[in-house]
Amino acid sequence: MIPFNKPFLSGNELQYMRQAIEAGKISGDGVFTNKCHSFFEKKYGFKKSLLTTSCTDALEMAALLINIREGDEVIMPSFTFVSTANPFVLRGARIVFVDSRTDHPGIDESKIEELITDKTKAIVVVHYAGIACNMDEILRIAAKYNLYVIEDAAQSVDSFYWDKPLGAIGHLSAFSFHETKNIISGEGGMLAINDDKFSNRAEILWEKGTNRSAFFRGEIDKYGWVDVGASFLPSDLIAAFLFAQLENLDLIQARRKKIWETYYGELKSLEQKGLLRLPFIPSYATNNGHLFFLLCNNLTQRDKLLGYLKGKGIHAVFHYQSLHKSNFYKDKHDGRILKNCDLYAECLLRLPLFYELADSDIKFIVRSVFDFYK
Ligand SMILES: *Cc1c(COP(=O)(O)O)cnc(C)c1O
Repeated sequence: MIPFNKPFLSGNELQYMRQAIEAGKISGDGVFTNKCHSFFEKKYGFKKSLLTTSCTDALEMAALLINIREGDEVIMPSFTFVSTANPFVLRGARIVFVDSRTDHPGIDESKIEELITDKTKAIVVVHYAGIACNMDEILRIAAKYNLYVIEDAAQSVDSFYWDKPLGAIGHLSAFSFHETKNIISGEGGMLAINDDKFSNRAEILWEKGTNRSAFFRGEIDKYGWVDVGASFLPSDLIAAFLFAQLENLDLIQARRKKIWETYYGELKSLEQKGLLRLPFIPSYATNNGHLFFLLCNNLTQRDKLLGYLKGKGIHAVFHYQSLHKSNFYKDKHDGRILKNCDLYAECLLRLPLFYELADSDIKFIVRSVFDFYK
């Protein structure tokens, strides 16, 4: 069976974890945590970065930082993972779901403005497949109505909007290092802070509501309870693993993009015949090779193709089911029909894409897709 995903170890993961153990400090905010923070701040210009135990946790920090309260409204796409919404729902917000674009699963920025009320507090964008949303338009709307912009950049490491790194654009951004992402640490995430006014408080929330980070840096002589918080910081063992991955970022990205481009080039003729649709990358966006999807013409075909590939030993998968139709949210949704979102939920299929996917397997997968359409 060709799996859908296989976590890739780039070489130094175990050695760095051993180093952390031998140095005698494996709790959070250690040497490797700081190496990871510096890496991101230098390479992508985030004002401040804080590793977290997941992207979900980074989004919870974002919801706390912008003081989400009962009755606030938060605008976001319906075609996303539950973690985009949960942190805001946990703080009592109502989620106002927006449809996807017709040419891409990302949020349709032209449908946002009409949904803004005096309760709206933030727009959360998701750069699906690492492909940027139309950020200039989203920033324009946010500035006009004085809203926060939060990037769910879970899939967006090393991807860009024009020349701006994703995650460096919104007030706050959340990355994921879950084993299915490009850069991994098993479970893991990061909050990127681009508005300085959040920096101090972010560090306090991160350290269980205490000013321990400032104490560690020698800025104060004792630390105590100064705010709410939780234990959002990962062990330095996780950071050690992650740092080994970051050192090989270029290598990992190059291979993933190559696989993506091979799929795209090989399957193009099926798109030209109208049998399926391939991803569209707007001129303002880059591709970071996070995931390769194709769009079948309808649900029946998609499920048939999934089954056909499974029969060939290829594990392809579908993706998000519309959040506005989920068991948890359907009665809370305002009833608007989100037609593109539902279409992606029914027609989208993701092919295996991971660093160690062999060229021969890629050929076999492509041939199998062709065989299905014969
Ligand atoms: C993976 C993912 C998440 C969740 O990341 P975790 O690190 O598992 O919490 C959130 N949003 C999107 C869009 C994702 O792809």
